[in-house]
Amino acid sequence: MIRFNVPPCVDTAYEYIKKTVENMHICGDGEFTKKCSEWLEERTGTSKALLTTSCTHALEMAALLCDIKEGDEVIMPSYTFVSTADAFVLRGAKIIFVDINPKTMNIDETKIEAAITPKTKVIVAMHYAGVACEMDTIMDIAKRHNLMVVEDAAQAIMSTYKGKALGTIGDFGCLSFHETKNYSMGEGGALLIKDPVYIEKAEILREKGTDRSKYYRGQVDKYRWQNYGSSYLPSDMNAAYLYAQLEIADEINETRLSRWQQYYDALKPLEEKGIIELPYIPENCVQNGHMFYIKLKDMDTRTKLIDHLSKNDILAVFHYIPLHSAPAGEKFGVFIGEDKYTTVESERLLRLPMYYSLTKEENDYIISKVKEFFGE
Ligand SMILES: *Cc1c(COP(=O)(O)O)cnc(C)c1O
Repeated sequence: MIRFNVPPCVDTAYEYIKKTVENMHICGDGEFTKKCSEWLEERTGTSKALLTTSCTHALEMAALLCDIKEGDEVIMPSYTFVSTADAFVLRGAKIIFVDINPKTMNIDETKIEAAITPKTKVIVAMHYAGVACEMDTIMDIAKRHNLMVVEDAAQAIMSTYKGKALGTIGDFGCLSFHETKNYSMGEGGALLIKDPVYIEKAEILREKGTDRSKYYRGQVDKYRWQNYGSSYLPSDMNAAYLYAQLEIADEINETRLSRWQQYYDALKPLEEKGIIELPYIPENCVQNGHMFYIKLKDMDTRTKLIDHLSKNDILAVFHYIPLHSAPAGEKFGVFIGEDKYTTVESERLLRLPMYYSLTKEENDYIISKVKEFFGE
């Protein structure tokens, strides 16, 4: 059976996890949490990276730092994961969904301005499949309307837009290290902070509303309750597991990209014949091989292909059910403008197996079964 995803694991992880136990520091903010944050800061160029218990929690922190209040409006695509919206709904925001660009499946930046009202506070850019949204336009709109930008970069570590790391362009960037992502700690994430003025507030939020981070650095002699907060620190054991992968981040990235390219080159003839559509990477974007998807003629063709692959021991899966059509989406949000692409495109998109340990031979086998389905 070829699984859809296999979580990445690097041998040194075992040694590093053992080290956290020997350090007698298995709670948050130990040696490996520091190593991971420093790696992220160096690699992305962000002012500050805070490791969190999930990307969902990083998004919740971003919503708190944007000071979202009851009735504020937040603009985002409907084609995204629930957490993109949930984090803001928890603060009482109304979600304003706009359509996507079918070429990238990202928010259609030309639809954003018509959805802005005096209540709008934030635009959320979710970089689908690790391919960047049109950030220059989004940042320009935000600047002109005095809005904040949060990047849901859950899938986008190692990707860039005009040379800038995704997650570092907006005010806040949220990464995921869930087991389905390119680098993993089981459950985990990170908050990237652009403007240093937010660092102290974010550290307090993350440490139960206390200044314990300052205390650990020896900047205060006792830590006290300073503000509202929660507990968003992952265990150092999880950070140890992640750090082993970050040390070989380029190798993991290149391996994924070569599997991605293998799919792309082999399936290109099917696209040329008008049978399927392949992902599109805009000129200024460097992607990270997070996902390989194809688009079929319609949902029926997709169901039959999933079935064909499953009979051949290959697990391929579809993706998001648009949020605006889900029960909570109807309750907490509204779609502004025409749903020209969100629903129809979501119904014909299929993701093929993609993970670090997927072999070239397994990939060839999957490709041959997709071609077989189309009688090629
Ligand atoms: C995976 C994912 C999340 C959630 O990440 P967790 O770390 O599981 O909380 C949020 N948004 C997007 C777009 C994702 O792909």
